[in-house]
Amino acid sequence: MELPRNAAYVVAGAGIHGLSTAYHLAKELESRGAGQGTDVVVLDKAGPGAGASGIACGVVRNNYFQPAMSELMQACVEVWESDPAAYAYNPVGYIALGASVQEADLTATYERQERIGYRSELIVGEREVDTHMKTLFPDWRAQGVTVCLHEHQGGFAFNMDSVHGLYGKCREAGVAVLSGVEVTGFEDAPDGSIEAVETSQGRIEVGEQVVVAPGPWARDFWRLLGLPETIDVRTPSGEVVPDRPMWTYWNLQEGEVGVDPLSFATADGGPPPVIHLDTDAPLHTDEGELLTDELWGIYFKRDRHSVQGGASPLVVEGDVELDPYPQTTNVDPSFPDLFCAGLSHALARFEGCRALYRDARSGGVGAFTADNFPVFDYLRPNLYAILDSNHGYKMIGVGKEVASVLLGGHSRLLYPFRFERFETGDLHPVSSSPYPWS
Ligand SMILES: Cc1cc2nc3c(=O)[nH]c(=O)nc-3n(C[C@H](O)[C@H](O)[C@H](O)COP(=O)(O)OP(=O)(O)OC[C@H]3O[C@@H](n4cnc5c(N)ncnc54)[C@H](O)[C@@H]3O)c2cc1C
Repeated sequence: MELPRNAAYVVAGAGIHGLSTAYHLAKELESRGAGQGTDVVVLDKAGPGAGASGIACGVVRNNYFQPAMSELMQACVEVWESDPAAYAYNPVGYIALGASVQEADLTATYERQERIGYRSELIVGEREVDTHMKTLFPDWRAQGVTVCLHEHQGGFAFNMDSVHGLYGKCREAGVAVLSGVEVTGFEDAPDGSIEAVETSQGRIEVGEQVVVAPGPWARDFWRLLGLPETIDVRTPSGEVVPDRPMWTYWNLQEGEVGVDPLSFATADGGPPPVIHLDTDAPLHTDEGELLTDELWGIYFKRDRHSVQGGASPLVVEGDVELDPYPQTTNVDPSFPDLFCAGLSHALARFEGCRALYRDARSGGVGAFTADNFPVFDYLRPNLYAILDSNHGYKMIGVGKEVASVLLGGHSRLLYPFRFERFETGDLHPVSSSPYPWS
């Protein structure tokens, strides 16, 4: 399809956020009699799912210590649950297991989930957690775990399948999704709004609004918009930390073991919840070599042909080359040992799985904001940015909220993620988790 000369709404990026926004916007325009899907054009320099959404582990959970993240995630899970078939969503639940240092955080998270009506249960105490896990998995043997948050909603979705599900919904709604069109710049009107989007295939005049949903390329769009590389951040105590880099990059380390996926089942033969295990128990290989005696963690799920998951990400130092994505990612050579030893530490059935580790391309680079939480906000009078700080595959509902904002609504759920928070000090509370996304 040829590049149109103008469009009411131009969305840059065909990942989970760009496609969800386009689809929900099309529905909103139609239901309000304010337009239709053909008013919306999505541009992607590669194609749907070419970015982080196409390689995400796909975990959908609500285990967030920050109230605003938790409430937003509840709305996102509702979207996943609205059409599990199209979104390739597996509502198997999610279990977070932690060492004593995480007890208070997980308890607070559970109490909030209870308040907002998100179905979960909390188990505290080493023996109690062990019993809960052994009921599900008789060969459970992880040590040093004193708290368990078992979410009965959430689970995971298959990354490319869900992107294609959204892509199909966009097309059915009349939205044009154009692959191989790179956004290269913006033409400004005197009031700072965007008059036209410049692309590798020509310019598109903007009738109404632009949405950018660039995933890891957030830094590049930030530059295109002439925004500063560093910002001052006011902390909740009022102290101002000057010159914080707006964007940092982390390598998300993930991998898979080629065991029979059906061997990872619950005691009654059912599909297993996604498991996230953090513990300070010493971690040994199956041969007895000590890998670490400090806090470590892994997460894993049953995939179609393997058991797949990851561990703590690593900061990428210096400038990051993103293209071709995700081939520029480096996984630490120690990751396979840690991941496989962690699986074996958790469940006896995974003993010896190191030999089955697959040296497949897994993992990728993610972009994080100055406080590691998303920025959902207008950066120009008619340019809305969805910069998700790598939390975002599970956030399929953000596009629905954004669609309503674009049409003049207020989103209580997105408000805590406005850019202004860095100036006002309305930052999100920080948890004791070793991960930048909890
Ligand atoms: C290895 C890994 C595992 C992850 N696991 C999970 C998980 O289990 N659960 C979870 O919730 N999140 C996870 N995440 C985070 C999640 O994948 C991202 O936060 C989310 O997919 C970002 O979605 P997006 O739509 O913003 O960006 P993307 O999916 O990256 O889409 C951005 C699109 O923009 C396009 N683009 C870039 N520049 C331009 C340009 N100039 N012009 C036109 N198009 C352009 C790209 O081609 C791309 O298709 C993971 C991330 C990684 C890297």
